[in-house]
Amino acid sequence: MVDLEKLKNVAKDTVSREDVKYLIGWRQGTYGFRVSPLFMTEPEDADKLIFSPLCVNNLATYLTLAEKLPVPRGAEPDTRKVALMVKGCDSRAVVQQLIEKGIERESVLVIGCPCQGVLDLEKVEEKFPGIHSPVDVQWGDDKFIINLPDGPQEVPREELLAKKCLNCRYPNPVMSDVMLWEEVEAWGNGEYADVKELEEKDSQARWSFWQDKFESCIRCYACRNACPMCYCEDCVLDRLNPQWIYRSNNISENTVFHLARAFHLVGRCIECGECERVCPMGLPLMTLNRKLVKEVRDKYDFEPGLDPESKPFQSSYRPDDQEDFIL
Ligand code: SF4
Ligand code: SF4
Ligand code: SF4
Repeated sequence: MVDLEKLKNVAKDTVSREDVKYLIGWRQGTYGFRVSPLFMTEPEDADKLIFSPLCVNNLATYLTLAEKLPVPRGAEPDTRKVALMVKGCDSRAVVQQLIEKGIERESVLVIGCPCQGVLDLEKVEEKFPGIHSPVDVQWGDDKFIINLPDGPQEVPREELLAKKCLNCRYPNPVMSDVMLWEEVEAWGNGEYADVKELEEKDSQARWSFWQDKFESCIRCYACRNACPMCYCEDCVLDRLNPQWIYRSNNISENTVFHLARAFHLVGRCIECGECERVCPMGLPLMTLNRKLVKEVRDKYDFEPGLDPESKPFQSSYRPDDQEDFIL
């Protein structure tokens, strides 16, 4: 059960610490069902923090975005910790960043928020269109309680749950320095129904499926920018010399873009769903990513973002790995 008082007290204590730079959490947005990140530096801002089914964004992206800005000439880098509120899926991004040494353990303070599943914003905005003033949403027993301007509405949880949450196996943070409330029972079964459905088609049908999707991509790169695991300072997609991928928007370049990104995420994607959520063209990017997650799990018995002591998947091997060419 969410304990907002505890959240606020922990947040006040956290930002009062000398070794903490700021805390990143969620706050109510300025319209409808949207929330915003809150970069909290002052204890009095604790009242702005929320944790509710609206907190869809994976804030772990900021650990590598905000923290990798160049330090101004003559200035000393600020090495204090960043405190970060995480749901279960978000915590796996932090763990994976630690595994890859994208961040250091002493640079982050993880505030764990056991999670009962967030809203699919498209579905909720379709069900309740034209809501402009900020809306509060809470979890009830197997339902969402949506406090609309003209009164509360209760909607069964399954109806509005985000796709990634329908089969969530890690609703509790897998790593935390502070756990804010009791853990919840996981409900996912590790099935990859959407992937299996596509696998059953023949290769021509699969290619037609992806060709249709890739053709509609406008190469806005929102998927890459929202991904907590896409944090290379020098991204291969931006390189001009050599230029691996041309800027032209066509099926050939778009396919290279998607396959390059998918392969760079093998053994690293933690299934937070941010790429698919932010895509303005509705590409089913999670189906592509989850296909590779499934392959890595089935063939190599490896899941990313669970054990900070594990080695990066792409730079390690075991003698019994299913690839003859390795040894
Ligand atoms: S995937 Fe799991 S941890 Fe992440 S928002 Fe959904 S229910 Fe919560
Ligand atoms: S967010 Fe969607 S449209 Fe934009 S580059 Fe990614 S897949 Fe293409
Ligand atoms: S590829 Fe998508 S699902 Fe995977 S970590 Fe990145 S944003 Fe999350």
